[in-house]
Amino acid sequence: MNIILLGPPGAGKGTQARNLVEERNMVQLSTGDMLRAARTSGTEMGKKVAAVMDAGNLVTDEIVIGLIREKLQNDDGADGYIFDGFPRTLAQADALGELLADLGQDLDAVIEIRVDDDALVERITARATCGNCGEVYNDQTKPIPADGKCEKCGASDFQRRADDNADSLRTRLMAYYKQTSPLIGYYYAKGELQIVDGMGSMDEVAGEIKAAIES
Ligand code: AMP
Repeated sequence: MNIILLGPPGAGKGTQARNLVEERNMVQLSTGDMLRAARTSGTEMGKKVAAVMDAGNLVTDEIVIGLIREKLQNDDGADGYIFDGFPRTLAQADALGELLADLGQDLDAVIEIRVDDDALVERITARATCGNCGEVYNDQTKPIPADGKCEKCGASDFQRRADDNADSLRTRLMAYYKQTSPLIGYYYAKGELQIVDGMGSMDEVAGEIKAAIES
């Protein structure tokens, strides 16, 4: 089972991907997480993409396709992959199709998480993540626990992303509508698109995704 979670920044792709990992033994492949890890470890590639990411623009297809290629070639996939934040351009979508075909695999579903644009700004500027386990918090809907410890792993290192600010978000949204949203039509035409309402609670959205995967 290989699925893509598609949607604008703040739609809940990462949160729902983590949920699927826990429930289904799937492997989450988040190009955003991979790029942030490259920055933290100070690789040449990490240094190269830092400014592009902070501004909210997309890094080159070559770099992200390379990251995904490496993962797919070195990982046995457990019970399937969840592509989170990849593909984001038509060239990346074509490349993913070819990479999976090379492995004798296919895409089972492309799930678009649909969210009102107004809600995205609120969600993103309120977002914090546990620096240890990646659990996602939100100042309004799921605040960091009063004891300052992550409810999942107990760590007390919370981080806010450098690109989770109003300026970068405008650029990220523009990149989504210009470069990524054409994928909705692309996968619809291939008969692979499923749409879920991303405005509900985390559990409600998870339920819709489950139904979409099992349909
Ligand atoms: P994300 O964590 O998915 O919101 O990604 C954070 C940032 O990483 C994006 O704003 C882009 O700068 C970069 N990025 C992540 N995935 C991709 C991708 N598939 N293609 C191009 N840039 C990406």
